[in-house]
Amino acid sequence: MAPDDAPHPHTRLAHAGCVVDPATGAVVASPVFATTFERGADGEYAGGHVYSRTSNPTRALLETTLADLESGAGAACFASGMAASYAVFAALPTGAHVVLPDDVYFNVRRLFDTVLAGRLTYTSADLSQPGALEAAVRPETALVWVETPSNPLLRVTDIAETARVAHAHGARVAVDGTWTTPLLQRPLALGADLVVHSLTKYLAGHSDVLGGAVIAREANGVFETIRAFQGTAGPVLDPFSSWLTLRGMRTLAVRLERACATAEALAVFLDGHGRVAAVHYPGLASHAGHAVARAQMAHAGAMLSFEVDGGEPAARAVANALTVFRQATSLGGTESLVEHRASVEGPDTRSPAGLLRVSVGLEHAGDLVADLERALA
Ligand SMILES: *Cc1c(COP(=O)(O)O)cnc(C)c1O
Repeated sequence: MAPDDAPHPHTRLAHAGCVVDPATGAVVASPVFATTFERGADGEYAGGHVYSRTSNPTRALLETTLADLESGAGAACFASGMAASYAVFAALPTGAHVVLPDDVYFNVRRLFDTVLAGRLTYTSADLSQPGALEAAVRPETALVWVETPSNPLLRVTDIAETARVAHAHGARVAVDGTWTTPLLQRPLALGADLVVHSLTKYLAGHSDVLGGAVIAREANGVFETIRAFQGTAGPVLDPFSSWLTLRGMRTLAVRLERACATAEALAVFLDGHGRVAAVHYPGLASHAGHAVARAQMAHAGAMLSFEVDGGEPAARAVANALTVFRQATSLGGTESLVEHRASVEGPDTRSPAGLLRVSVGLEHAGDLVADLERALA
């Protein structure tokens, strides 16, 4: 956990992975690829690492960096955001009940419908609505899962209020912080017990690393179980991906600042366009979650979605006509992406048919606006 007089998060990010190597004087840590570490005559491991499934120096450096940024007691990194999410669910007792947002990241719902079916139960609720959680909790509810802003409608859930209600019912709260990063929202400070990140997105930031992390407010039994799952089942983040993530994190603050400013400009542009039926961006004063977003987020973020008049055919035609935006899933890279979410999610989608989701990258805002203007015309 960061001390009160710790440097600004931007400074800590700029120094992510910058640990001087005592042997060479190198100012950034190199990845340690070794799987096994030497045991001394005294039976001890001088470097503190035994075997890379249970701990690896590069992964450990990323974990302490993430725990520090989120002001958590500890972090555990996994091979993907979904593996990190699964680690949280694996730590719940059999028969436990979970409350999921009704527009939860669709792979999480799929996980509950397939892999976890029979072991855990869940209720979907629109957690952005006051009273919805109170109506969904049961005596056996062990966890409330929060995604805010949500995917792809960017609904905003009040984290502090959710934590208050969940804790009153003896349930823990985990927040998927992928879209907001440690810079835009501080779930642990707002009362959440766990934060989950897909490192694949903004933290690694270049669409070339798959990774995930769980950060815990307290080093309690739940976090010990998550750690045990990591080290024994072994769905760990490899050293090179750990190193690439630290490398990406060094520029997170400047990347995010640019992407957020451009997202705001695009939201305003789309909001005023005649062929756009709706814009979902919490930075707009007309957004239902605007007030909560202003209170709990440093900025509304770099993700938005909009609905094109004319439903799926019109939305897909717009996506196909864009040339600066790439048509692909995922988010948080330097390149702007657009996605027709309903057809990606498949038959069990809850996304509106005319909706396009946008991940705003680092291109010049004028090029992105011009691209949208052309495609919508
Ligand atoms: C991408 C994503 C995930 C899953 O992460 P992977 O690294 O793809 O496994 C989970 N939650 C959200 C909000 C995401 O955007």
